[in-house]
Amino acid sequence: MVVGGQIFQFGRALARTKECIRIFNLRKYDRGYLPAVRLYASSSSGGGKQDKSGSNEGSSTAKIIAGVAVTAATAALVYKSGIFEPSGPDTPKKVRKTAQPRVRTRPPVVKVPADAANIPSQVPYLLIGGGTASFAAFRAIKSRDPKAKVLVVTEEGHLPYMRPPLSKELWFNDDKEATKNLRFKQWNGKERSLFFEPEQFYCKVEELESRENGGVAVASGWKVERLDLAEKKAILAGGKEIQYEKCLIATGGKPKSLSVFEKASSEVKNRVTLFRGIDDFKELDEVASGAQSIVVVGGGFLGSELVCALAKKSKTMGNHPKIIQVYPEKGNMGKVLPEYLSQWTTNKVRHEGVEVVPEAFVTGVSQESGKLVLKLNNGETIKTDHAIVAVGLEPNTQLANTSGLEVHEELGGFLVNAELEARSNLWVVSSYVLSLRKAKIFDPQSQSLIFLRGASSPAHLYHFRLVIALASLT
Ligand SMILES: Cc1cc2nc3c(=O)[nH]c(=O)nc-3n(C[C@H](O)[C@H](O)[C@H](O)COP(=O)(O)OP(=O)(O)OC[C@H]3O[C@@H](n4cnc5c(N)ncnc54)[C@H](O)[C@@H]3O)c2cc1C
Repeated sequence: MVVGGQIFQFGRALARTKECIRIFNLRKYDRGYLPAVRLYASSSSGGGKQDKSGSNEGSSTAKIIAGVAVTAATAALVYKSGIFEPSGPDTPKKVRKTAQPRVRTRPPVVKVPADAANIPSQVPYLLIGGGTASFAAFRAIKSRDPKAKVLVVTEEGHLPYMRPPLSKELWFNDDKEATKNLRFKQWNGKERSLFFEPEQFYCKVEELESRENGGVAVASGWKVERLDLAEKKAILAGGKEIQYEKCLIATGGKPKSLSVFEKASSEVKNRVTLFRGIDDFKELDEVASGAQSIVVVGGGFLGSELVCALAKKSKTMGNHPKIIQVYPEKGNMGKVLPEYLSQWTTNKVRHEGVEVVPEAFVTGVSQESGKLVLKLNNGETIKTDHAIVAVGLEPNTQLANTSGLEVHEELGGFLVNAELEARSNLWVVSSYVLSLRKAKIFDPQSQSLIFLRGASSPAHLYHFRLVIALASLT
């Protein structure tokens, strides 16, 4: 049985489910999902539908589409994949030694356009963020308003792209050139790009204003520092102001870290990655090619996907790096899976060649002779070339702090009304707004759908936040 990448069927199934739901939901207003959204609504937010006269197409009824998917397809695929096969345990050694590591190389973020003067000062539609939510939003806007002029502003130096293949398919492509160009084989065997749309799809930022038929332009490498809510302006780092008619905040999430790594020296931090985007993928790919060992801290979906991807890749590499996974739970994905499924998954991960260290956490980290030295609570020490911290995600509410928008006291996400508005003509979209829904998976033992344990909190739903709520802004 081909075992490599079985766990990644999770993500593939999720991505496909997400795609289906996105297609289904973009043009529908499904009130069924609103109760979850309402939990985030703030009566004092000043939101709600107010003056819609700003729409340049006349129709300005805000339609909010929120989608949610459960994870039945995910677990069903995993079940089908054969991960239930048992495999032998792997006892970690007391001290692991590694050889010379690669030094971290991270290219600087390139701003496009380079000069803020080339960014329009006024736009009908402004989307902040270059992730899936933003992509879905501009697709929805264009389908309702084909001549819409949409400006996407994203801090990342890339056009909008999808993240799931970064911990899955991109590691499995034998064609190195394709991987270098961020192309991967999707579930049906067809190769595709990580980018949602090719470069030619977008118009130049400097041409957006003058285009008769509108278009979508992406200002990449640019960060929105704050919003002037009264003036309906976004202020970029460096001071550039963009007045918007309608704006969507789609700034997603930030990976969490652990205080032991946060407090560490810059030399240590240089060897630690919070895995989230293209640059992290490229860096890890580079690091892996020269490392003798890599440690992934975290036993959730991302950590488990990454160790399997790395272990599989390791078998094809001359340096054959050892992949070690450390987490405090008893088994992989122990926070969300029933114990027997978690144990089965752990066996499967070990079967992939990963050295799994459960029920352990990092209490100290230092650097010695070019190696990271991780001290564990169980007294063990791991010497490694690089560590990836995959311990969850938190909502990125920086713009709330700088702009005076409200956030949920406990859950930390933006407060919005039932239509995802934080203010009139200002929407916030993030999969967090849906995360109070319980996630379900197919349980092969009972042949039924079961709720995931603890999967109602945003952190646990990291990979179950299947669909991006989407405001159809026209
Ligand atoms: C490796 C990996 C694998 C994953 N696999 C799966 C999977 O298999 N299935 C699944 O359902 N989910 C998966 N996820 C989660 C999924 O990718 C996220 O749910 C999704 O990316 C959320 O999209 P988003 O658009 O809301 O936010 P994000 O993708 O986080 O995008 C937010 C964007 O906003 C930008 N931004 C933030 N602040 C600013 C600012 N002030 N100004 C300008 N731009 C800003 C950011 O740079 C970023 O480009 C995975 C995530 C990762 C990292």
